[in-house]
Amino acid sequence: MDYSPSAKELSHFPFLKKSQDHIKKSFPPLDQLLKEERGVFLTGLAVRRINQALASKKTISAHFQHRDDEEIASYVLARIIVSCIQDKQLYDRLARYEAERAYYFLNAETGSESEKGWNEHAILDEDQNSRIARYLAGEFGLDLSKDRMPLADYVEIVSVLHEDRFKLVNRRVRAGQVMIRKDELLELLRERIRVMLRRDLPYHVPKAICQQLAPVAETIKKEYQQHMLEQFGTIDESAFPPCMQALISALTSGVNLTHAGRFSLTTFVHTIGMDVPAIAELYARSPDFDPEKTMYQVEHITGRGGSGTEYTAPACAAMLTTGLCVHKDALCEKVNHPLSYYRARKRDLVKAGKAGKNAPSATSAPPSGPAKTPSGEAGPVKPRADKTGPEKAGSKGPQEPGS
Ligand code: SF4
Repeated sequence: MDYSPSAKELSHFPFLKKSQDHIKKSFPPLDQLLKEERGVFLTGLAVRRINQALASKKTISAHFQHRDDEEIASYVLARIIVSCIQDKQLYDRLARYEAERAYYFLNAETGSESEKGWNEHAILDEDQNSRIARYLAGEFGLDLSKDRMPLADYVEIVSVLHEDRFKLVNRRVRAGQVMIRKDELLELLRERIRVMLRRDLPYHVPKAICQQLAPVAETIKKEYQQHMLEQFGTIDESAFPPCMQALISALTSGVNLTHAGRFSLTTFVHTIGMDVPAIAELYARSPDFDPEKTMYQVEHITGRGGSGTEYTAPACAAMLTTGLCVHKDALCEKVNHPLSYYRARKRDLVKAGKAGKNAPSATSAPPSGPAKTPSGEAGPVKPRADKTGPEKAGSKGPQEPGS
């Protein structure tokens, strides 16, 4: 599509290649910029962006208070900062936030009765799509003028969407094409953007730049820890998803867990705040419990071992692949990660005043000292070599704990 987006349009979709080309000449090299006053200003904008990505209630405004090139630069800086922090959940959050913003801007382009649109030059076609919307979709491999999509593309995009209407059984499929309603196309575009933005993280940032950004990164880490603490609070086994309940039952009844099972359980309980001794205590229920070996292996998975690598709890898709997704219930249909299940169930239990009522000792006890959070416990966190989202259970983990 032969179209040159305006600077304002580029600033609303800063992940476009054209957006980043647009600011190439506006700023000096990063190490120099960070020493300047405007570098400090841009870092502040980037931090605000990250904080918004972490906030449970987000406020997105389509009318920026600063220049277009500053908006684009803040996007790039935010991604550099999270790359320095090296926390996969931060990458996920930021990618999701950027995709949500893009979706919001696409819908708010021409405004509504109550709010003025941000793009006064928007020209809509007969499908009510603007040029920037069509351009953006094209960059992500979608055609907004079509009411269908190749089956393989559709399946890839909706794999993370849990609403029934997106399930293939609820769609009309003809000659390898899935029928899509026009109003759903933007939702699919949002998901495509999210996946692509996540795929590019982390950036390979020079150490010297990360050192310059270290104070900012430290502040974000602390806020993130606080945020996670608020989300997960003290550990409550009664809110565990069925898959994790099943793993614990198997442990308790003396069944040896597979490598993938141990890896999934360890990363899960670690993420929700269980410290290493408590995890080891959990494995003490195992028939072949070896305390020393267990401590070593748990520390390795949780990032406290020599490598410093902190592993992420596998998502539902990976759990399914390894045969660990069992006893699914109604809530499972709405989540794509055991952690999301836990968060949602815990919220429900708190609302109903039942939180923590039947939690057994090893997992119900809060970690010793202040409750731990994913990035808070492990020191420097190294990303895995692959960058395609949550890891597969056991795909790169060390030997399982407890054996
Ligand atoms: S759907 Fe997800 S949360 Fe539910 S049992 Fe399967 S893996 Fe666990």
